[in-house]
Amino acid sequence: MRQYLSHGLGVNSVALHLLLLDQGADFEPVYVNHGADWPETYQYLSMFQRWLARRGHRPVTVLTPDVAGHATLAGYCRERRLIPGMVRRWCTNRFKVTPLKRHFEDPCVCHIGVDAGEARRAKPGARKGIVNRFLLIENGLGREGCARVIREHGLPVPEKSGCFFCPFQRKSQWLLLHERHPELFSVAAELEERCAADRVARGKAPIYLTGRPLMESLHRWRGLHPARSRRGRRRHGNEGGEQGWIVG
Ligand code: SF4
Repeated sequence: MRQYLSHGLGVNSVALHLLLLDQGADFEPVYVNHGADWPETYQYLSMFQRWLARRGHRPVTVLTPDVAGHATLAGYCRERRLIPGMVRRWCTNRFKVTPLKRHFEDPCVCHIGVDAGEARRAKPGARKGIVNRFLLIENGLGREGCARVIREHGLPVPEKSGCFFCPFQRKSQWLLLHERHPELFSVAAELEERCAADRVARGKAPIYLTGRPLMESLHRWRGLHPARSRRGRRRHGNEGGEQGWIVG
């Protein structure tokens, strides 16, 4: 049966990829690029593709979604005046899950990087012909175990993957985004403003990525005192490793 790895380029996916290579499995790793991952994820992808090529391994297949003519999640949100949703996760379904399922030839096994510490997230295949498999759980590998596997292969541990304007991001991630990638922070604020203005014009309550307008959140988090703000930036900068990230 065909085997695929649903790749997010985060800690779990990379560890699972290495585990499958170590087992000599014949599988296709597949990543959907909707253009909204953090820049660090794209840098890791380039490095990892070179690492795979040097060892004669199959590269990660990179798919481009097509959602009503949109290849990027930000472009879709801009045109539709939407922001990613915390309730139904339409963004994941349309821009990640659906392109993967279109690509898969069934019957097949889909390897998913859910680790042993989050086993409740492991679900059997939702579609007939696709069987989900959770090797990290089968091998008792939690987040730290995954990081160890990656280091043992001589690779850097990736920062956790996710969209730069994901509403599931923690405060520390938003602050890190503003510090490292202020232009992307501005894109997130702009998308949010468009969405809120459109909802208000249609008589609906505005919704926000952080529960209130992003710039307002930023000012609240950093405080108005410059010294306090600098301390905050240093503190959050130190949290910039994998542990400070969540995935949507
Ligand atoms: S990371 Fe967040 S914004 Fe991106 S697809 Fe997942 S839930 Fe949506």
